[in-house]
Formats: sequence, structure tokens, C-alpha cells
Amino acid sequence: MLIGTPKEIKVHEYRVGLTPAGVKELKAHGHQVMVQAGAGSGIGITDEVFRAAGAEIVSSAQEIFARAEMVIKVKEPQPVECKLLRENQLLFTYLHLAPDPEQTRALVDSGCIAIAYETVTDPRGGLPLLAPMSEVAGRMSIQAGAHAMEKAQGGNGVLLGGVPGVAAAEVLVIGGGVVGYNAARIAVGMGANVTVLDRSLPRLNQLDSLFQGRLNTIYSTVDAVEHYTQQADLVIGAVLVPGAAAPKLVNRQHLRAMKDGAVVVDVAIDQGGCFETSRPTTHQNPTYLEEGVVHYCVANMPGGVARTSTFALTNATLPFALALANKGYKQALRDDAYLREGLNVHTGKITYKAVAEDLGYAY
Ligand code: NAD
Repeated sequence: MLIGTPKEIKVHEYRVGLTPAGVKELKAHGHQVMVQAGAGSGIGITDEVFRAAGAEIVSSAQEIFARAEMVIKVKEPQPVECKLLRENQLLFTYLHLAPDPEQTRALVDSGCIAIAYETVTDPRGGLPLLAPMSEVAGRMSIQAGAHAMEKAQGGNGVLLGGVPGVAAAEVLVIGGGVVGYNAARIAVGMGANVTVLDRSLPRLNQLDSLFQGRLNTIYSTVDAVEHYTQQADLVIGAVLVPGAAAPKLVNRQHLRAMKDGAVVVDVAIDQGGCFETSRPTTHQNPTYLEEGVVHYCVANMPGGVARTSTFALTNATLPFALALANKGYKQALRDDAYLREGLNVHTGKITYKAVAEDLGYAY
């Protein structure tokens, strides 16, 4: 199969859909790979490295879309890219169609076959192509939070791990899923006192045995949120209720009772956020102050560490890309019900129920 990866064109998107190792792997299975010149330049992967891995470097996205049988990307196709998609062309990327009627219409009109990373599932009910970005965001949340706790950033001037003779910071993680676990790992590693709230007892059980007593697990109630936010120097918002907006677990009242200069990192901001006072921010301007508490609410945290995120994402996408290329999409989707969940658009039809229902398409 002829596979193509264009340079991402969404603002401040430096990730790339294939790495040189991915190119090599696809080549080893007998496929041809085109990569647009400069596709990896933002994260230090040069055209020469791609070429050495066996890619053909082409000068324009037009050429990729005109020739490739499968296009592998990171972000949803932008309007100019949607116009380049062809009938029966396979598109494998993040799509997030439900809130995006224009892109959905453009994909339907193009006649392409679009498989969305975010709706591919796994046998444990997880989302294997979203999880790597949650891992990145979870680990990064502590790094971002620790920085925001510095005086010059508006924080309370507490060092996360303390020093001998001085207490470490109190870190509260609300939601102990993929983001929460990864946040807790880094916070514990940096020597903070960590408490995780979750409303799933099995999950708290799992965390308790994973951390061997190095953190507190607390069942999530209004009372627990109230109590532990008051003590915290840093609160990480990491809840998810699948298919719904994030519940507003921390309200303005709770915030007023928090320490001056404490920091909240609302990772769940991409689902609306779990703090009443959260609003999305950017990497250029990541924080603001509300009720004396520093808020960090960057909606695309993994974009800030685009190099790590590229490798994390492509490690997860490559096996699926290989299956699609080796077997052809029809056989690959027949063989793998979890990958089949990724099919959102098929030659002019919406094939993902929630998207069809939300946007009024026949299903
Ligand atoms: P997950 O499903 O793995 O974990 C969510 C956890 O929240 C679960 O353990 C669940 O039991 C818990 N939860 C639900 N309701 C709760 C409540 N009332 N109190 C306490 N816990 C509760 O999800 P995840 O992959 O960890 O993602 C968490 C959030 O982070 C999502 O909103 C996701 O979209 C977001 N995210 C944001 C970024 C970013 O750049 N901002 C990046 C990745 C993920």
C-alpha cells in the first residue's frame, strides 16, 4: 500500500503521524511511504532521517493526498486538507467529529474512509489511542503545577518535595484513571504527599496496591473534595465521565477556602473542566489567577511536549496502521472489532452512532 504523512498545519501542532521507525516498519512489510518535507522539523526529525528510514520525501501536501491510498496524520483534517481527500482514500487520525459539523460534512462529501483514533477501543473497555496522551498530560500536570507554585508564577512558593527539615507539598489528584495515576506517579516520585480521590472503589484498590502505601486513596464525596482541597498546595483535576461533560466537583466556595497561591491544574478542561472557575488556556498564556488560586487549564497539554507525544502516539497507532496496510481496511476491520469501532465515516456515510445521532445523519 502507498501511505502518506503530511506536515500538520493546525496552529502550534508540531506532532507528526509517523516516525522514522514507523516508516521502516511499514517498509519492512512491503509498503511504500511518502512523508511531506519538513513534517518532523518542529520536533527535531529531519527529512534526511525520514529518507534514511526509507521514506520518499515529497514537497507538498497536495502530492500526499493525490497519491496516497492511506493518509496517516495526528489532528483532524483542516478545511484545506478536507478538500484534498479523495473517494475511497483511507484516513487514519484523530477526528473528534461530534462537536465539528463542518469537518463531518466535508469528510462525508469527500467519499473517504475515515478511522478516528479516539474511538478505537480495547478488550478492557479502554481507549488505546487516547491513553498515551492521557499519560503525557498526567505526568506533565505535576511538572506544570510545580512550576506554577513558584512565587514568580503567582504560586505560594512551596517546593513540591520539600527538603530535609521542611514539609513536602500536599498534592490532591481528583480522578485516579490514566491521567490521575500518571500524575500521582510523578508527584510521589518528586517526594510530595499525595492523595487521590476517585469514586471507583476497584480503582482505589488498584492504586493502593500499585503504590504500596506511598499515597492516600480516598473515596470521592463532596465532603472529601471540600476537606482535601483546603489542605492542598496543588490540585490536579483528572476526572472523566465517558461521553459527558466533566462534573464540576470543585466550586468557587471550595476555591475561596483554599490556601492563597495554591495551584489547580485542570487536565479535564478538554471536557469542560472539573473546577467551576476553569476556562481553557494556551501554552503561550497557560495560567490565570482566580480567588487567589493559580489556574493552569491548557486544553492540549501533550502539544507542549510534541516530541515525546509523537513517539507515545505512534507507538500506539503503528500496529493498527500496519494491520490496515497489510490486510486492506475491509479485512482489518472484519478481523478486529476494536479497530472497527474507529470507523466514523465510510464513503459518504456516518458509521459511528454517537456522531450520526449528535449531528443528525442517518445511521
Ligand atoms: P480515565 O477514564 O482513565 O479516568 C477518569 C477517572 O475519573 C476514573 O477513574 C473515574 O472513576 C474517575 N471519576 C469519575 N467521576 C469522578 C468523581 N466524581 N470523583 C472522582 N473521580 C471520578 O480518564 P483519563 O484518560 O485519565 O482522562 C481524564 C481527563 O483528562 C479527561 O477529561 C481527558 O479528556 C482529559 N485529558 C486532557 C488532556 C489535556 O491536554 N488537557 C490530555 C489528555 C486527557
